[in-house]
Amino acid sequence: MAETKQFKAESKRLLDMMINSIYTHKEIFLRELISNASDAIDKLYFKSLTDDKVGLKKDDFCIFIEADEENKTLIISDNGIGMTKDELENNLGTIANSGSLAFKNENTSEDIDIIGQFGVGFYSAFMVAKEVQVRSKAYGSEQAYLWKSEGVEGYTIEECEKDSVGTEIRLILKDNTDDESYEDYLMQWKIKSLVKKYSDYIRFPIKMEIAHDHLKEGTGTEDVPAEYETHTAIETLNSMVPLWRKNKSEITDEEYNKFYNEKFWDYNEPLCHIHAKTEGTATYDALLYIPSQAPMDYYTKDFTKGLQLFSSGVLIMDKCSDLLPDHFSFVKGLVDSQDLSLNISREMLQHDKQLKLIAKSLERTIKNELKKMLNNDREKYETFWKAFGLQIKFGIYNGYGVNKEMLKDLLMFHSSFEKKLVTLEEYVSRMKEDQKYIYYAAGESVAKIDVLPQTEVVKDKGYEILYLTESVDEFAIQMLMGYDDKQFKSVSAADLDIDTPEEKAEFKKLADDNKDMLTAIKDALGGKIKEARLSERLKSHPCCLTNDGQISLDMERTFAAMPNNDQNIKAEKVLELNADHAMFRKLQSLYENDKEKLKAYSEILYTQALLIEGMPIEDPLAYSNLVCELMVNQ
Ligand code: ADP
Repeated sequence: MAETKQFKAESKRLLDMMINSIYTHKEIFLRELISNASDAIDKLYFKSLTDDKVGLKKDDFCIFIEADEENKTLIISDNGIGMTKDELENNLGTIANSGSLAFKNENTSEDIDIIGQFGVGFYSAFMVAKEVQVRSKAYGSEQAYLWKSEGVEGYTIEECEKDSVGTEIRLILKDNTDDESYEDYLMQWKIKSLVKKYSDYIRFPIKMEIAHDHLKEGTGTEDVPAEYETHTAIETLNSMVPLWRKNKSEITDEEYNKFYNEKFWDYNEPLCHIHAKTEGTATYDALLYIPSQAPMDYYTKDFTKGLQLFSSGVLIMDKCSDLLPDHFSFVKGLVDSQDLSLNISREMLQHDKQLKLIAKSLERTIKNELKKMLNNDREKYETFWKAFGLQIKFGIYNGYGVNKEMLKDLLMFHSSFEKKLVTLEEYVSRMKEDQKYIYYAAGESVAKIDVLPQTEVVKDKGYEILYLTESVDEFAIQMLMGYDDKQFKSVSAADLDIDTPEEKAEFKKLADDNKDMLTAIKDALGGKIKEARLSERLKSHPCCLTNDGQISLDMERTFAAMPNNDQNIKAEKVLELNADHAMFRKLQSLYENDKEKLKAYSEILYTQALLIEGMPIEDPLAYSNLVCELMVNQ
């Protein structure tokens, strides 16, 4: 009697969910088992290419399904690589994809999500079976083993008889209930339709003995009533041709989407598919998809990019990261090329010239597809942008500008123009004749930027402003430097360069006249600002903060929010004052008559400017005291 072993805790939980599953698509168990069988065959087939001892040719490999109605047992067997005793123990005793459980609680209504999003592999068998038996003989080993389990209580492993290498899985089906007829899974029509539905592109034949009724010879005539006899024949149920090898004209959008849903475990429709067939310097078939939503872990370090890599139809790598640049890491799909050597190792692949050519060509293809979407289907592109725009902007920033030519036309920003998302091309096409720069303003949100005092004069001139709401935006813009010969300019830039020559001359005179007062304000604020200046940009507000140098106020805020911000990077702040505002005249009079009060006013104005910018104020208590004092003395 074999010893009963316990499942690992997580496996037990998953198993328990499977057994008590209320999931409506229990039928996916067949897909999961067939996929496992196909993976196992892939492994042995791959070996057979370099190892004569395997003794099987491509056509010998197959998955076989058998329904034993009498014993209510469904049998799925393969002549793949098989499992050793240890592998049976480790692979079937422990759930492989434990990450899928990690974020879920034990609420049964959550079952559906897990199954829908991840697929649950082998354990899904327990949705339909009360007992599962796995007989397996690993390639290269003499002894076969039987793994057996009736569910959460545990499993046993013992030696068994099995002639050929491979795995046979027997599902002793659950008893029918009022809602569920498990016996249906023994019906040939049911099995046929499930294979077509879920496993049609499995590259190895999925075979089954199929019974057909034929008219018995000599019957069915005028004199002899019809009699039928049953013939059986082994048939292949799947079409096997990989979707990407078919002609585009033969494939419907539905088929493309279905393939995506099943292969990449995303139950949303993809935004678009790209089916590329290329010959020339790099010969390959590629089937790529742009998802409509970012996966949950997309913007975390857990996410790994990559495409499946096939060499003439054999999977050689599941996630080949070298095929995708980081800025297009959201793309899912596969590449099949005849030019790659099958025996290539992961390390060699990184240096493979062919692979690099394919990657370059894919990058261009993806870019063109996105550009096409932007031009032809704005709504769709905006959905894309919402999900992955951040990644494109990071792409410009991270590559120290090397990717800017590739990515600049894909960028979108909010804008003062009808508060819509706009491209740089659109912005430039709308620029006024006398407008020298592409103006931008950075802040937390469109609403907050829209009321920033610094935007007043630019708007007043009728110039459009890009609203940069994400912290990476300004970094990306600085990396870009310009677009179409036009330079970017922040509305907060010291040299806004927006006035006419007459206005400039007038401004200079006013600045000279007030030079001493401005110096006094700067001194009053200690080292907090680099300078106090008259403002070219304010219309109705008394003051605002801007910056000299490369670090903007918004960047200072971004740096401050970063962990390990040891360097304490600060903007060189400039307090700008509006000479047309009544407050300015008040300051002038204080400068003449009450220097002490000028100091307090300077402090209050500076703090207010910080508040408007959404910056933290250094000493809230001191500020509050100053304002209170002012109110009391009013
Ligand atoms: P996954 O397929 O996601 O890895 P499963 O739970 O479906 O998870 O299977 C666990 C492991 O068991 C597989 O990764 C594989 O190593 C092994 N396995 C399952 N079915 C077979 C089979 N038919 N032949 C060989 N190995 C198998």
